[in-house]
Amino acid sequence: MYTMTIGGARVETKQQFDVVNPATGSVFATAPAAAADDIERAMLAADEAFATWKRDEETRRKAMHAAADAVEAATTELAALVTAEQGKPLSDAAMEVRQAVLWLRYYADVEMPVEVVRDDATGYAEVYRRPLGVVAAITPWNFPLTLAMWKIAPALRAGNTLVVKPSPFTPLATLALGEVLRPVLPPGVLNVVTGPDPLGSVLTSHRLVRKISFTGSTETGKHVAAAAAHDLKRVTLELGGNDPAIILPDVDVSAIAQRLFFSAFMNNGQVCLAVKRVYAHASIHDELVDALAAIARAVKVDGGTVEGTILGPVNNQPQLTRVKSLVDDAVRKGARVAAGGSAIDRPGYFYHPTILADVSDGVAIVDEEQFGPALPVIRYRDVQDAVARANNSKFGLTASVWSADPAEAARIAPDLNAGQVAINVHGFGVRPDLPFGGHKWSGIGVENGYWGLHAYTETQVITGPARS
Ligand code: NAD
Repeated sequence: MYTMTIGGARVETKQQFDVVNPATGSVFATAPAAAADDIERAMLAADEAFATWKRDEETRRKAMHAAADAVEAATTELAALVTAEQGKPLSDAAMEVRQAVLWLRYYADVEMPVEVVRDDATGYAEVYRRPLGVVAAITPWNFPLTLAMWKIAPALRAGNTLVVKPSPFTPLATLALGEVLRPVLPPGVLNVVTGPDPLGSVLTSHRLVRKISFTGSTETGKHVAAAAAHDLKRVTLELGGNDPAIILPDVDVSAIAQRLFFSAFMNNGQVCLAVKRVYAHASIHDELVDALAAIARAVKVDGGTVEGTILGPVNNQPQLTRVKSLVDDAVRKGARVAAGGSAIDRPGYFYHPTILADVSDGVAIVDEEQFGPALPVIRYRDVQDAVARANNSKFGLTASVWSADPAEAARIAPDLNAGQVAINVHGFGVRPDLPFGGHKWSGIGVENGYWGLHAYTETQVITGPARS
């Protein structure tokens, strides 16, 4: 029985909802469906806990280290739940838990210094970072634990308290995280609630919430921003992406193909910062398509608990339907299927890793975020044109440039409109100490590093007369 965590206590609910294992397509568990009064109690508990939690930095640091130890000790149990509800291979699920631990430890140790701007005969001026209060943290289904911890760790360090709500597709690992941390954190500091949509909007419109930290689709992100505007809640929005990789003509295709493939297909393409479209110079386009297609055909796709699995299923039926319809649409419009191109005929939400060639801008799989195991490769002749096409998007999350000459790639990188641009790799910048966030429709604000920590604070200036 999975239970919510409210005010440090385990909470069962009258209503439950089904959780499906994407590797089988069958219901394997149920999760609590929070009622309105559960949310009210969670908010009140978080608000009450805030009064004490915000006061003492050292207490928070110690509690966060203890939390990291407790999560680490529960790695096996948490990873098994991530695999069961999300679909990814067990080793990738264990990596999620390790990331959660890493983020907790990083933020436990990070400094929040008081900045003394002036201290002289005319007086002093100091800048403090004050916590905001109750944070509503809302997460998607692709990395349930990692993305929750990107919010929980900095929010706690800064002195806030939280009510966390995972995606209804992946509620269990986050509920289990709440259970693991129940004996470690003071009651009310971390509350975990679950339920089907529209539970998220109950959180975003709640009077006690002072900050919403949201990761999910751009469409939902706009609703969150609108809900926040009503009483000027602070928001951080980590939203969708359509991340381009530009491959220059001088690359050694055999040297980069494997890395490029997994930059697109990690977590079965269900990564906000995965490569979503490849712009390949005409001189290497065919060779690159063949190399990517060969890897796509060879990679082992199976349930996440099966030994040797590299890619699991797509997480849920609507997402599988979306990937299918984007690929079918591209094929109708003339795309060539170099590998894959269809669902795998077996129970569960499996799709053949798919490489599409002879496809271009103006086709939905290039213009929109596919968020699944299908990658379009687009031929270009002029690199400035490729940059312009890469930038011709409402999104701007991450991008990459690939070249045998990293200095040449570095000259192109600043021209790409994206929150992170990598050279000869993609998504390398996901670390606790580097800011992560999107330009344009990919979001507002950043997570991680002290930039992400500051997003859970407001500045307070204290001025006074000369001290001596
Ligand atoms: P989603 O927007 O459908 O759902 C995200 C979360 O919002 C879920 O918990 C959902 O229950 C909740 N929600 C739904 N309606 C809501 C409302 N009106 N108010 C408040 N909350 C609401 O997204 P998803 O399908 O779960 O995740 C996939 C999307 O997430 C992709 O677009 C992907 O790019 C994006 N994503 C972005 C990042 C990033 O860091 N930029 C990271 C991971 C995923």
